[in-house]
Amino acid sequence: MSQFWSPLVRTLTPYVPGEQPKIAGLIKLNTNENPYPPSPAVMAAMHAVSADALRLYPDPDSSALKQTLAGYHGVQPNEIFVGNGSDEVLAFAFMALLKHSAPLLFPDITYSFYPVYANLFGIDYEEVPLNDAMEIDIADYAKRECGGIIFPNPNAPTGIPLPLQKIEELLIAQPNAVIVVDEAYVDFGGETALPLIRKYPNLLVVRTFSKSRSLAGLRVGFAMGNAALIEGMERVKNSFNSYPMDRLAVAGAVASYGDDAYFREKVQAIVDSREQMTQELQQLGFTVLPSRTNFIFARHPTIPAEQLAAGLRERAIIVRHFKHPRIDQYLRISIGNPEECKLLVQTLALLTR
Ligand SMILES: *Cc1c(COP(=O)(O)O)cnc(C)c1O
Repeated sequence: MSQFWSPLVRTLTPYVPGEQPKIAGLIKLNTNENPYPPSPAVMAAMHAVSADALRLYPDPDSSALKQTLAGYHGVQPNEIFVGNGSDEVLAFAFMALLKHSAPLLFPDITYSFYPVYANLFGIDYEEVPLNDAMEIDIADYAKRECGGIIFPNPNAPTGIPLPLQKIEELLIAQPNAVIVVDEAYVDFGGETALPLIRKYPNLLVVRTFSKSRSLAGLRVGFAMGNAALIEGMERVKNSFNSYPMDRLAVAGAVASYGDDAYFREKVQAIVDSREQMTQELQQLGFTVLPSRTNFIFARHPTIPAEQLAAGLRERAIIVRHFKHPRIDQYLRISIGNPEECKLLVQTLALLTR
């Protein structure tokens, strides 16, 4: 605390990201990073950026990246917003689209950055409990007065997806609220709401390069939606930072989309490992929620999750444990490469014997 802090800063409780320890040989399954490197084309494209180009400011509109994304996803460039990671894209969505007199709604168990943004931007919010199956029930959101709704699909940290039809029911029930669907994990088997953006002007779909494209370190995210929603976000961005996307990030991100075969192969490898690890943990007695992401959310019937997390850590494996009362019996385990998955399962077998 300092006398120089503004009154707002005094009230903030910042988001705490999963730790990034610098321990050699650590098996890091705590932040849902991709175990595989990005396509070699990504590094090649970044190497090809000249020093002289870096002397100059980048394109404030990131047109090259928007063109690439537009072509791949079948939308227009003015239906795309790009930012420095989807966390930043979400921040712009909160500022531009989610602050209204009625409260913002999101699940009680979800990405814990949402309440942090709401507090930072002075947005009133209400948490809507997941049902007993740990699913988002659209009926709980359909009839409530609200200024906006946001959730990940699939949800995090549960990994459970919502079908497209449920998203459409919600869009029909809440035509006057902006509905943000955070699709950080959709490439691992979820159903995207993208086909609905032309039909529903209140839908914003948010994506990231951090998980399925192995580029958490590059910081690239984007949103797709009606051009008027995007324009609102651009107004905020252009009142804050003209150049959130640097030249290297744009070059790398464009190249990632240029190597679709690599992308599909690595996503499939992770999905295969997820299915195998799910079965193996079930054989050890764990309950594993049905994940369509690159992580699983699992609970042991008797041994406390905190104890398991500590036991794993002693053996240089880190996973995520949340102290939230509803989920403190669960571990969130990111899907690693086959060798890491094998070691994780072997170590849990040891700890639960
Ligand atoms: C990882 C994650 C993000 C953030 O992604 P970045 O693009 O790395 O900022 C956003 N939403 C959810 C639900 C995530 O899990």
